[in-house]
Amino acid sequence: MTDQLRPIPTIMRAAVARTLGQPLVIEDVPVPTPGPGEILIEVIACGICHSDLHAVDGDWGTPPMMPLIPGHEVAGRVAAMGDGVTDLQPGQLVGVPWMFWSCGTCEWCLAGMETICPSTESTGFSKAGGYAEYLVAPAAFVATLPESVDPIAIAPVLCAGVTTYRGLKRTGLRPGQWLAVLGVGGLGHIAVQYATAMGLRVVALDVDDEKLALATSLGAERVVNSRAADPVAAVRDQLGGTHGSLVTAAAPIAFEQAVGLLRPGGTAVYIGLPGHARDTINTSISRLVESEITVRGSNVGTRLDLQEAVDFAVRGRVAATVRQVTLDDVNDVFADMRSGRIVGRVVLTPR
Ligand SMILES: [Zn+2]
Ligand SMILES: [Zn+2]
Repeated sequence: MTDQLRPIPTIMRAAVARTLGQPLVIEDVPVPTPGPGEILIEVIACGICHSDLHAVDGDWGTPPMMPLIPGHEVAGRVAAMGDGVTDLQPGQLVGVPWMFWSCGTCEWCLAGMETICPSTESTGFSKAGGYAEYLVAPAAFVATLPESVDPIAIAPVLCAGVTTYRGLKRTGLRPGQWLAVLGVGGLGHIAVQYATAMGLRVVALDVDDEKLALATSLGAERVVNSRAADPVAAVRDQLGGTHGSLVTAAAPIAFEQAVGLLRPGGTAVYIGLPGHARDTINTSISRLVESEITVRGSNVGTRLDLQEAVDFAVRGRVAATVRQVTLDDVNDVFADMRSGRIVGRVVLTPR
């Protein structure tokens, strides 16, 4: 039984992937019903992440649920609550990230590494996401958002924000140390801001001067156009290498460069995902050994990371560069994304 709080339609509009690799179809589908411990959320805004494209293209080996409603950067209001939900209020602003649910009882959940729980469910991948007027999510896994935030502005923080924030934590860098951010797209332009807010010094690398100009405006002290110069040589010449690097780009070469441009003892953290077809890199074993280089993966963020990442945004230290579109524009945005034409983040609203 659901404690319904205001009139909710039975049918909603959604962007649905019915065949892998094909355009999304805008259609009417049933509004889902929250089960025990779940809430129904009226979507206000949903960021369009590059991972959504990978999901609908079937790029990751594991196929998504089909048909699939993508979207995992969802800001909205609690519209109805299932049985047993006591810590949220009707109408409350909440955010739904990629990590839809984790088991809470496995070795990794117990260790505070719920992002690598083997049983985890993913919003807009194994569960219906936010390219719709409504979605259902477990109450225990949503982020609570203060009324002061703009849902459109906060949406990208729920994936791009938390993912870069956790990645930065996993570099282990201290204030004053140099970080290389490889790729200044949806993730990278937010990474520059978190890094700066955390007291790190940033060199940003990209192949697009417009994106590098954005990085400079957001706090990067240096930029390198990876197409114009050998980025490894440029960073080593200018800075003697960086203490850490964060790869948000999708090109495998960036993952190799992220190791090459480190100074001895440095740490590279990978958060970008090139996709299943080009999932390997070449790197020098002797360099890893002799220079004690660390390479770490980082996968979205825990609930604690999410709440901390949101807090930076609420305090105005981090803001995504956002362009707003509606559900009907989603295939055009995907086309722009395929050709790398997006600066910052695109956020859709249901209407
Ligand atoms: Zn994402
Ligand atoms: Zn688990």
